[in-house]
Amino acid sequence: MIESALYIVPTPIGNLDDITLRAIEVLKSATLIAAEDTRHSKILLDKLGVGAVKMISCNDHNEEQRAQIIANEVQAGGIVALISDAGTPMISDPGYKLVSALSEKKVKVVPLPGPCAAITALCASALPTDKFLFMGFLPVKDKELTQKLESIRLSDTTTVFYESPRRIMNTLEKLQQVDPKRVVALCREMTKTFETIYRTNVSDLITYLQEHSDEVRGEFVLVVGPHISDEQDDELSDSAKSALAKMITSMKVKEACQIVSDLTGESKNKLYDYALSLKD
Ligand code: SAM
Repeated sequence: MIESALYIVPTPIGNLDDITLRAIEVLKSATLIAAEDTRHSKILLDKLGVGAVKMISCNDHNEEQRAQIIANEVQAGGIVALISDAGTPMISDPGYKLVSALSEKKVKVVPLPGPCAAITALCASALPTDKFLFMGFLPVKDKELTQKLESIRLSDTTTVFYESPRRIMNTLEKLQQVDPKRVVALCREMTKTFETIYRTNVSDLITYLQEHSDEVRGEFVLVVGPHISDEQDDELSDSAKSALAKMITSMKVKEACQIVSDLTGESKNKLYDYALSLKD
């Protein structure tokens, strides 16, 4: 039994199967669906078998006005679902002003957990997840972009950014200027056919993408690892050392170093030196 409230409903970020049973139940029970773009969401709702339901747009331009309509609907016993084009509403998507206005009006808001590109990328990044900072989209202008990246130069947490294919190379180049050895995970087209996760240091990633420009397309989440101090940097991690030691028993040193570097973000040169010391 779905109670009267505003429900925050995450929707898939690429793979249509990534929607919870509860999200479908709420959408099917809704008396009103507030969508970032009603035409875009109608396609998903049709695929989910959500029948004819009243829909209104709720986006950055009108969400404060929509708050009154949505509050009235819930107060009259209705069930309202808020959805964005993809993923979790409010995470670099509209909804914050609406929830804030409803909270002031003491209208019940129920959040549903579900797909979110930032969390999906963080989990794939192989970077520390014990604490992290989500910074949404980076500024467009170079000066502000560099300032933002400078602000995490000495950060001891993992940082997650959303980025567009048009700007990703420039962003990586600016990050390289700030910290050339920074370990990053670039998560592309997650949950879709061409999903690719690149884990390496920022300089190697730039080289790779320059050589594979056809891969600079689609949607990206950039996950930037914590700052590594020079002392920490001198040491290869134990896991990298032990993986490399095992791998060079059955494959070429160069190949093993490449794989371990891709997986751990450790420098290929350092891995190579270590592998040679083992061979000696
Ligand atoms: N609210 C959404 C969420 O919870 O993921 C994010 C909305 S934001 C407007 C869209 C950005 O999220 C994209 O530009 C991209 O940076 C990231 N994104 C969304 N889907 C993605 C995917 N399948 N793979 C990689 N990044 C994705």
